[in-house]
Amino acid sequence: MDVVDPATGETVETYEEDDAADVADALDRAEAAFESWRERPRREREELLVAAAEILRERKSEYAELMTREMGKPIEQAEGEIEKCAWVCEHYAEFASAYLEDEHHPSPPGSEVKTSYEPLGPVLAVMPWNFPFWQVFRFAAPNLVAGNVGLLKHASNVPGCALAIEEVFRDAGFPEDAFRTLLVSADLVEDAIDDDRVKATTLTGSGPAGSAVAAASGKRIKKSVLELGGSDPFVVLDDADLETTIEEGVWARNQNSGQSCIAAKRFVVHDDVYEEFVSGLVEGAESLTVGDPTDRDTDVGPQASADLMAELHDQVARSVEAGATVETGGEPLDRDGAFYPPTVLTDVPEDAPAARDELFGPVAAVFRVDDEAEAIERANDTRFGLGGSVWTTDRERGERLAHEIDAGCVYVNRVVASDPRVPFGGVGVSGFGRELSEAGIKEFVNRKTVWVQ
Ligand code: NDP
Repeated sequence: MDVVDPATGETVETYEEDDAADVADALDRAEAAFESWRERPRREREELLVAAAEILRERKSEYAELMTREMGKPIEQAEGEIEKCAWVCEHYAEFASAYLEDEHHPSPPGSEVKTSYEPLGPVLAVMPWNFPFWQVFRFAAPNLVAGNVGLLKHASNVPGCALAIEEVFRDAGFPEDAFRTLLVSADLVEDAIDDDRVKATTLTGSGPAGSAVAAASGKRIKKSVLELGGSDPFVVLDDADLETTIEEGVWARNQNSGQSCIAAKRFVVHDDVYEEFVSGLVEGAESLTVGDPTDRDTDVGPQASADLMAELHDQVARSVEAGATVETGGEPLDRDGAFYPPTVLTDVPEDAPAARDELFGPVAAVFRVDDEAEAIERANDTRFGLGGSVWTTDRERGERLAHEIDAGCVYVNRVVASDPRVPFGGVGVSGFGRELSEAGIKEFVNRKTVWVQ
């Protein structure tokens, strides 16, 4: 597996891939590790998560630099990601016992009836490159503390991150096989899912990858959780505080160089504030520093690979061909590396890629609407349903509209973000199941009813 630094286009590292025999060996070990891991008192598993958080903080710079080299994340954002991973470990160390406490039910006299939450076994996680640490930790922390063991098939462009995550758990004192990385291509995933030792699957990534993993899991009656793409609406009402809304909108679209499933992708803007909002968004996009991701002043780094950038540009070009207007950006930068500038598109036709598909890069599509009803109609005119936000100085109005948007989460006057304390996941083609919070830790457990007469 070659690692290509997307800022330079140069191959910086090569890793040897695991083969089918390595996978079989890892599955044997995972199965054996599960038998003792599930018996460890939860208190001990919680303490190990605290140790993992400490290691992450100690090695923050090292891991952030690795992430930046492999997929081009601006260094300060990479450091923030490592901090967030430490937070999710600490969160589950603190709350897992409360989340998994036995639930007592109304019981007939002389009986005791309860539900207890028991681990399932080895869970296979197929993960993407865009938040190469966070996406994995938000799966691993709740599952390990619940007593499951983890097998990671990470994206092929971030093998160093995949091995570093395995190292965090090993060095924190987790049993060696409680969390293992498999450096394999996507071709070996289906065979692993077919194996009886894998009890459940989770995937974060694109629709086709999610569909393949869910189909293979369904065929073997294994539960899966899918966190797929999004095309989140960012709804700006006529009474929004425009200064803040514009500032947050620029961040919401361009964070992580635009490569986030919950980035604001479609800006749905009331006619009364449209001109001012668009000019602010364009000015904000143009003020961002695009460049070397190791530089602390950089806001937007390269796209994670040349291929991904080419795909993004093709979507922009087809949108323009269909009638969209480029307000700023719109062409790859003329320099080495996969650099695409923050771009704003207006006049986007309903059937253009920027309206219909997920644009996984720093490209905002803006839509003008006349009133609230049209705003909701436009916001919901998508197959996706991950997140969305509403911007208004009237909190009640914001909350009312939040309930009308078809998505797994809607934030009012706040940029959508995943947070260990609240459930995260989508509806429609954005997937199913939830990660994080109590909902996340209960996805891969046996909710066992125990009736004692
Ligand atoms: P993919 O969905 O292809 O990759 C995500 C993970 O799935 C990787 O580990 C990949 O492995 C694996 N995978 C891919 N195909 C299969 C398969 N058939 N069976 C099992 N596993 C598979 O994303 P890409 O990196 O190709 O990005 C393409 C698009 O996906 C983006 O432009 C974006 O729209 C969306 N995406 C969404 C993300 C999100 O957060 N929701 C994250 C990343 C991408 P390998 O790397 O070896 O192919």
